[in-house]
Amino acid sequence: MTAYPTPANLDHWWLTTQPRWNRLHAVPRAAADPGDEDMIEALCGGPWPVLQAACGLEKPMTLPGVFSRLGMQRCAHCCRKLGIAAGKGTPANKNAVKSLKRPGSVASTTGPVSHTDYRDPVQDA
Ligand SMILES: [Zn+2]
Repeated sequence: MTAYPTPANLDHWWLTTQPRWNRLHAVPRAAADPGDEDMIEALCGGPWPVLQAACGLEKPMTLPGVFSRLGMQRCAHCCRKLGIAAGKGTPANKNAVKSLKRPGSVASTTGPVSHTDYRDPVQDA
């Protein structure tokens, strides 16, 4: 569950636009160095850096909060560019949910904890 450009996120940032949080857009890792502390600070608290997403949108971008990372709709154009299905939450989060649902996974053998406990209510809306 991260918006950072990890392999599970297809090496893209999943950011949303300021001031209007609307969609999660995929921003190539090369656009913002994850090791650059000034960049991370700006993404979290401003001044929001203007970055270009895979879909071509160029706007001030910010790191989404935890509920947005779980439940915000991904930009369909960015998803098409990256060859993934449109949906909600960061791709990394989607993978996490998938592994929790797999039969015989650790979660199903360790007691009453079910995968539904991990789901954001927004995802079911
Ligand atoms: Zn986009």
